[in-house]
Amino acid sequence: MADIIQLLPDHVANQIAAGEVVQRPASVVKELIENAVDAGSTEIKLIVKDAGKTLIQVVDNGKGMSATDARLSFERHATSKIKAAEDLFQLNTKGFRGEALASIAAIAHVEMNTRQEDEDVGAQLKIEGSKVVGQEVSVTPKGTSILVKNLFFNIPARRNFLKSDTVELRHIIDEFHRVALAHPDIHFDFYNNGSELFNLPATNLRQRIVHIFGGKTNEKLVPVQEDTEVIGIDGFICKPKFAKKTRGEQFFFVNNRFVKNSYLHHAVSSAFEGLVKERTHPGYFLFLKVDPSAIDINIHPTKTEVKFDDEHAMYAILRSAVKHSLGQFNVAPVLDFERDSNLDTPYDYKSKRPDVPTVEVDANFNPFEKENKGKATVNYPKRERQTGSWEQLYVGLDEKKDFSSIELESEEVTGSLFTENEETPSATTYQLHKKYIVTTIKSGMVIINQHRAHQRVLYEQFLKNITVDKGVSQQLLFPLKLSFSKTEIELLKDLKDSLENTGFLFSDFKGDEVEISGIPLHISESEVAMVIDQLLSDFQAEVPDSSFSQADILAKAMCKTLAVKSGELLSVESQEALVNNLFATKDPTVSPFNKPTYITMTVEEIDKRFL
Ligand code: ADP
Ligand code: MG
Repeated sequence: MADIIQLLPDHVANQIAAGEVVQRPASVVKELIENAVDAGSTEIKLIVKDAGKTLIQVVDNGKGMSATDARLSFERHATSKIKAAEDLFQLNTKGFRGEALASIAAIAHVEMNTRQEDEDVGAQLKIEGSKVVGQEVSVTPKGTSILVKNLFFNIPARRNFLKSDTVELRHIIDEFHRVALAHPDIHFDFYNNGSELFNLPATNLRQRIVHIFGGKTNEKLVPVQEDTEVIGIDGFICKPKFAKKTRGEQFFFVNNRFVKNSYLHHAVSSAFEGLVKERTHPGYFLFLKVDPSAIDINIHPTKTEVKFDDEHAMYAILRSAVKHSLGQFNVAPVLDFERDSNLDTPYDYKSKRPDVPTVEVDANFNPFEKENKGKATVNYPKRERQTGSWEQLYVGLDEKKDFSSIELESEEVTGSLFTENEETPSATTYQLHKKYIVTTIKSGMVIINQHRAHQRVLYEQFLKNITVDKGVSQQLLFPLKLSFSKTEIELLKDLKDSLENTGFLFSDFKGDEVEISGIPLHISESEVAMVIDQLLSDFQAEVPDSSFSQADILAKAMCKTLAVKSGELLSVESQEALVNNLFATKDPTVSPFNKPTYITMTVEEIDKRFL
């Protein structure tokens, strides 16, 4: 048989390699900016159009390249950063594989202009899908400018696979943050579709963090510092009370390279244990210095993973360094997370005080008059049973003689039962362990999960607000100012319309601040930040294009935050209103997250257990 093995042509090999290096526009941004950093630049400008799908340009003032080097830089395994295998263990540069430019040029239209400081003219190079289509002398400033157009032009499948501009831009911003945080001494500028998204002057780390994540960040930061033989730790953690629902602000850098490492992450989280609320994440910006020969960063093509020789020691040192900072800056004493439960129950009745019995004295009272018409009366609240359809559902067994007719007669429940009638409600519900509401139904008993039930009620209410009527808004006397990171602000702008339908009113988006002048009816001012935080976290993965799924996520995020929690004591009125409202919803059986809201136990079942 004939031989069948052949070497792949270079452009095919490059395309295959490109698949590993370039997953999306953000990967190109990362590689280009890292090259600019490696070139010793003090100023780096990033320009993108359409989230990088049409254009990505990185301009630096670094050392530039000779015409020959410019040509060579696009060859695979062409690098100036290592010469021998041993160099791999003393790496101080971002790049070293010599693959990035070759890969990018294989799947896009690339134009490079570069000039070294001591040369009068520079070189221009144009490459399309690995083919050099132009090479000439160019008059260009010192440094390098690389333009990448029409990414994935020759791999339509890849191009179609790209997400919406909002999502792709968010990935780019993430990569930009990582490099910008690692190099506060470099001036970065970032333009998207002609408008400046970030302008980060050269400064120190603290200021860099503040410039990226907003003015309010400064007060959140607590420095961490530790020097040992194995590891040097430097950077900041955020005070526990600022822990967020989103994992966004967690950064590890090892020898100035952003890395992900769940083991180290655990070390930091465990130092925060007991200090942050469940399911919130403390922010951190930690820079670890280790001997380059003690790590292997080569285990992943995009180089965000890292392996250490002595992980256990690192874990212990990191954890104690963080704990030390928390203690030293007096943020460690266990915080009181008990929220004012009054804020949690949006029921109007909650704030209603029971009526104080009134004593009316009739001045004309004459005990000797025959007919005591004007006698002194003491008005105690009446003790009548509640009537209405509620009774049909949750009847007191003592009042029914005929148990054989036990059946749900009506699912229609009016939600207003307890608002019209302010008398002391009858105790037909009981709260069990501040978690379940137990009540009787005709066939036996029902146990309701208060948190999930309330989620269902709020979810439908918010969904209706967003999709059907315009949500009613309560105007704030003093507009609320909240600050967010640029990414979050962008996201909020995307969501503005839907949010306004729920009752939010945004009066201004200024820099990293949002001014809110109105909020939905059922939420209190103190809950606004929490709701928005939850929202941003839920939308982080993707802002769906369809407005329904947007409304759905929004309603879910809001009900998740605002529903009464397990562990909250509910007044009898609130319990009953909750039960009422739950059974008035379209789908009382499950929470918006598809978890059962209640279970029932029939008298027969109970009977059986007594056998
Ligand atoms: P690596 O960064 O892994 O070496 P790249 O493909 O990213 O591989 O780049 C290849 C080479 O091109 C680099 O080693 C460097 O010498 C040169 N180079 C790339 N970008 C720049 C730049 N912005 N300024 C100066 N030299 C650059
Ligand atoms: Mg590189």
